[in-house]
Amino acid sequence: MDVFEKRVTCPHCGHAIHMMFDTTCGDQNYFEDCPICCNTNHVVLHIDELHQTIQIFIDGDDEQIF
Ligand SMILES: [Zn+2]
Repeated sequence: MDVFEKRVTCPHCGHAIHMMFDTTCGDQNYFEDCPICCNTNHVVLHIDELHQTIQIFIDGDDEQIF
């Protein structure tokens, strides 16, 4: 599971959007435009190697852990 697609909810418009995540580069922090409403979402990807989980934070107020 190096690159995977995850459905997330845009915090601006509430639409479900598909984002690609690449876990091969470690923790990531970037901005990606929503394809629906074109607002910019702040995406933070944190890899917890100790617990083997990936945490994805979208714009700070939408936390999705799996
Ligand atoms: Zn949106």
